[in-house]
Amino acid sequence: MSDMMQAGFDYGALPVELAVKSRAAAERIKLRLKRTVEDIIEIGRHVYQKGWVAANDGNISVRLDSERLLCTPTGVSKGMMSPDDLIIVDMKGNKIAGKKQRTSEIMMHLTVYNMRPDIRAVVHAHPRHAIALSFETATFVPGDLEGQLHLKEVPVVAAGPLQVEQIAAGLRNHLVVLLRGHGAYARGQTLWEALHWITALEESAHIAWLRAALPGRE
Ligand SMILES: [Zn+2]
Repeated sequence: MSDMMQAGFDYGALPVELAVKSRAAAERIKLRLKRTVEDIIEIGRHVYQKGWVAANDGNISVRLDSERLLCTPTGVSKGMMSPDDLIIVDMKGNKIAGKKQRTSEIMMHLTVYNMRPDIRAVVHAHPRHAIALSFETATFVPGDLEGQLHLKEVPVVAAGPLQVEQIAAGLRNHLVVLLRGHGAYARGQTLWEALHWITALEESAHIAWLRAALPGRE
């Protein structure tokens, strides 16, 4: 069984020029896909274990190339994914490989990717301290020095018909954006970088929460 089959994809579903340009090129693509599949599963496990995605919450995507994304499907716990669960979509959101259904949230991811070609990964999760603070502000400004250094400020978008465009616009100039009362969207050059910004946001939000709870604070 090939790596590709182990990864749960029908390689024959991909465009011929990509699949069979040369045997060596095909092997490199397969190996890179296998590693990307492993990364996305590991990121899902991490956000689940941190308590940032309950039930089947959250979604993760990463560019495979200029025309394709590897992404998590709808209806699957991100903490217990197997390669078989993942899907590949084109840059219009059409599924081109995989067995599961795509998430409607993939359109948000695509809006981000189409806006900034240098963004290569998007991670969406529900970090609870950041969500709690999102009810109270239009912009979360970390008080801790690490948060100030890395995140600077985090826009908070209100849920509504413009949320997709507003989240994407926020990610143009910020590493992570909050959707009020819902969760965080982070972007990166890699999946791991996008995860880092979710981690940094939740750390700063947790510190802000603890600080506000100190005796004598209003
Ligand atoms: Zn969500």
